[in-house]
Amino acid sequence: MAFSRVAVIGLGLLGGSVGLAIGQALPECRTTGWDRDPDVRARAAERGLVGTVCETAVDAVKDCELVILCVPVGAMAAAAEAIAPGLGANVVVSDVGSSKQKVGELLRTALPGATIIPAHPVAGTENSGPDAGFAALFHNRWCILTPDGDAPPEATEKLGRLWTALGARIEIMDPAHHDLVLAVTSHIPHLIAFTIVGTASDLEEVTQSEVIKYSAGGFRDFTRIAASDPTMWRDVFLSNREAVLEMLGRFTEDLTAMQRAVRSGDGETLFALFERTRAIRRKVIEQGQDDARPDFGRADH
Ligand code: NAP
Repeated sequence: MAFSRVAVIGLGLLGGSVGLAIGQALPECRTTGWDRDPDVRARAAERGLVGTVCETAVDAVKDCELVILCVPVGAMAAAAEAIAPGLGANVVVSDVGSSKQKVGELLRTALPGATIIPAHPVAGTENSGPDAGFAALFHNRWCILTPDGDAPPEATEKLGRLWTALGARIEIMDPAHHDLVLAVTSHIPHLIAFTIVGTASDLEEVTQSEVIKYSAGGFRDFTRIAASDPTMWRDVFLSNREAVLEMLGRFTEDLTAMQRAVRSGDGETLFALFERTRAIRRKVIEQGQDDARPDFGRADH
């Protein structure tokens, strides 16, 4: 077993899922947890998200070999400050934050005595809070580890083994590259969804009830993404600003090209793009990253 005592800080969707997944896959591993919100702590204890829900961050991390911070990216500094007095020697501190460069820098500065191995399980849903977590969240999903050059390789290897036990596939990546890749695969798609849902609800010529009534035309799928947690996503765009802006520049150019094709009646350009994007969807399904069923198989959870 990679770690026998693990603390989970932040007991929402990700923290709850990590706790439940460890409980299921590694029942002999002792888990403790803490969240700053007493109601979340009470619900986490009721659901048994971790073995013991503690009343303080220091109690939760005491004697732990691994601490996983599962709080919004903008709360990582506060969480690091809360756990710092309780950390033992040789502890590994990791996280699940959606952006990696800023979080890694911040944790290394805030916790100079600890071994920092940032991580990002590329798995989630639009739900948040202590009722949202489930043990199978990481099955067949990628978990990207972004250690810096000073991180001991054996700590990275142990963390990889833990995530593999939870069902994930491991990739090791440079943090700046992670932020660029995730900007295009996750952050910009979310920004587009937030924007299109906002645009539709602002249109004066179309009523709100029409937007909802005819949502099956495509809008509905954007509303699922646009329902994601506002705190988490605000923090992602604030912490991954450079990579998001770089990819947004590329996207805006491509969107302008599409605008030109629509305006000039250039069906060939439109058709060629749509054919290419349809093939990408097929590859996503072939690689097990989504389900071909109309509800994407999500009703199973
Ligand atoms: P969540 O369901 O909202 O859970 C976060 C929990 O952390 C909340 O209970 C929150 O309490 C608590 N918290 C906030 N600040 C804290 C602090 N300083 N100390 C202790 N607890 C604190 O969010 P989530 O979806 O699990 O996201 C957690 C992390 O996972 C984020 O960094 C996110 O980027 C990353 N992530 C999310 C997804 C996804 O799809 N959701 C996927 C991959 C990675 P309050 O409610 O009181 O703020």
